[in-house]
Amino acid sequence: MEAIPFIDLKKQFLLLKPQMEKVLLDVAAGSHYIGGSEVGQLEKVLAEYVGVAECIGCANGTDALTLPLLAWGIGPGEAVFCPSFTFIATAEVVALRGAVPVFVDIDPRTFNMCPVDLENKIEAVKKQGRLKPRAVIPVDLFGLPADFKSINEIARKHDLLVLEDAAQGFGGEIDGQKAASFSGVGATSFFPAKPLGSYGDGGAIMTSDKSLAEVLRSLRGHGTGQSKYEHIRLGVNSRLDTLQAAVLLVKFSVFPQEIKARRKVAEAYSERLSPYVSVPEVPAGYGSSWAQYTVRVPAGKRDTLIKHLKEQGIPSNIYYPLGLHLQPAFASYPGLGNCPETEKACREVLSLPMHPYLDEPTLDRIAEALISGLTTEDL
Ligand SMILES: *Cc1c(COP(=O)(O)O)cnc(C)c1O
Repeated sequence: MEAIPFIDLKKQFLLLKPQMEKVLLDVAAGSHYIGGSEVGQLEKVLAEYVGVAECIGCANGTDALTLPLLAWGIGPGEAVFCPSFTFIATAEVVALRGAVPVFVDIDPRTFNMCPVDLENKIEAVKKQGRLKPRAVIPVDLFGLPADFKSINEIARKHDLLVLEDAAQGFGGEIDGQKAASFSGVGATSFFPAKPLGSYGDGGAIMTSDKSLAEVLRSLRGHGTGQSKYEHIRLGVNSRLDTLQAAVLLVKFSVFPQEIKARRKVAEAYSERLSPYVSVPEVPAGYGSSWAQYTVRVPAGKRDTLIKHLKEQGIPSNIYYPLGLHLQPAFASYPGLGNCPETEKACREVLSLPMHPYLDEPTLDRIAEALISGLTTEDL
């Protein structure tokens, strides 16, 4: 049987091919490979979509998290609260600034940062008295916005900055408000596999704080001041290049449709799978961008199930096999209490093929294979 792609970027390319060929050649012929007009155009279009005053393009999603931390001067002696169940970049940027990532457990229903555990971890840091609680980085995991209503309130109470990691969440919403706008600053990624992906690396920061935006623009270009060779602060080189911006402008033209299509795919999956496995929950008022469609399966059956799917040409992935609080890279950061729900999720999660062009027969094939795998005796 024909192998099914986990994410079908090829189908998307073929659909957009005429426009892509034009813009790719236009950028090549125009020769403004860095800082071309497409970058500013994209920033304008995305800021409008998200509903913020400013969008600042940068080199990747990891830099989109790093730049606000630099702007805020986050560093040694400070605690930044991150979920443990996320991609490493969320917490890596904190540790590389010299601050301490403090890992927070998840709400088992949404896979997102648990507000109750956030409050517990803040209290634990305060009680210990060694670190100053400074910021929190909630993640819109798998495309579902985190519980910003609760988290923003806790942050206000404890005087913490909030940086939204919307690398997977771009296109998600709460009560009609778009992801990357739920706190003062939102970071997103244009890595090809993300909901809005380019043909390489890219990222962006969203904010309505004009003075912060000015600092971020300076920081992404070596701390420039009024002119190119005046440097008023130490910065980094983190540019979104013209070619990626041009690609993203074309892709953005179908992005809202793609989000709708992803939601249909997720609904169809859940309809078929909910009698057999625990399917992802979307709280009332929330909309996911469905970066991933992730179910929970019995931990003891997961490996054989993955093998069973693979034999039928169906790829699946484990996001994530290990909580960040247990990663060797963070071994020197003594955790403050554990993250049992993260550890349980790591044993049970399974992400299925997800993209806007997944058709019904393919979806049926995937669902049937998963169900037969779960219900076969010898598995
Ligand atoms: C992908 C991702 C990032 C990093 O984005 P890059 O563009 O790969 O640097 C950060 N956080 C989360 C949650 C991600 O999924």
